[in-house]
Amino acid sequence: MAKSIIEGLKKHKILGRSGCCYPSAEKWEKVKKAKGSKRYIICNGSEGEPYSLKDGHILKYYPEYVVEGIKQALKEIKNSEAFIYLRKDYYWFFAPKLRKLAKGLPIAVIKKKGGYLAGEETVACQAIEGKEIEPRQRPPFVSESGLWECPTLVNNVETFYCAGKIARGEYKNERFFTVTGKVPKKGVFMLDKDSAVKEILEKTKNYPTFDFFARAGSEILLKNELDKKIEGLGCIIVYDKKRTNPIKLMKKWAQFVLDENCDKCAPCREGMFRIKEMISSKKLDKKTLEDIFFAMENTSFCPLGKNAPGPFRDIINKLM
Ligand code: SF4
Repeated sequence: MAKSIIEGLKKHKILGRSGCCYPSAEKWEKVKKAKGSKRYIICNGSEGEPYSLKDGHILKYYPEYVVEGIKQALKEIKNSEAFIYLRKDYYWFFAPKLRKLAKGLPIAVIKKKGGYLAGEETVACQAIEGKEIEPRQRPPFVSESGLWECPTLVNNVETFYCAGKIARGEYKNERFFTVTGKVPKKGVFMLDKDSAVKEILEKTKNYPTFDFFARAGSEILLKNELDKKIEGLGCIIVYDKKRTNPIKLMKKWAQFVLDENCDKCAPCREGMFRIKEMISSKKLDKKTLEDIFFAMENTSFCPLGKNAPGPFRDIINKLM
């Protein structure tokens, strides 16, 4: 067994389990070593990405491992307090059990304010501090200056679950995947963490008998591209290729970004408006679209705008 929890996270190559895949051990080390007398820990259970259900599944079936993971972080990061930050439905369902498990520990269970964007780590800090639901400038990163300008460790529910498993010597190189869309057995499945998309669909008996494509994170994958491993959120959505209208699908995605963004910066606000306008007119000018994608990816203020173009580009290049 690893000597310390940080060594354990390093040894098992635990990566971020929300949008980005930052090595967890590095994050923990940064917060541990950051200057400041007070430190905070946020267990992020905001899970606002459409279709993803893995955090809810973990909170329902394995809350003791999540709390164990937070306990390990509290031990490792001196003078720290923790928050379990939950989206509204998870808060109503799981807060009582989590509070019971956390009894006697400096862990508060709180309800997320706002929509999808409130799950982004700097926005989560704003929300917990009772401030405006909008992202903060980075740097400084939350590991140096997060909650109340103190070093803050923000990790997803699944990361704390993994830390809990490692601490108890039960970690088995597995992780959770959400499989949904046009599949017979929608759900959350625990499989080898290095599984490729094809393997996940096959092992969960969800490999379609019809022609299809899948969305895995920000990527659109065709049938011949399913050997890719899926990182981050671990959510796979399957679409029937014949019965899915790519224009309608992209309009839905564009509306989601328009509804959930904070309107703070022009590349995201205007860019997505123009994308939706062009999609709705059905006159796709690929060159102009690529310029908008480039501007959004390179000049948006936060990850929502930066990551939004990926699936649109893939759909246009692969399916139209
Ligand atoms: S990228 Fe979008 S969500 Fe992020 S700050 Fe800009 S407008 Fe707001």
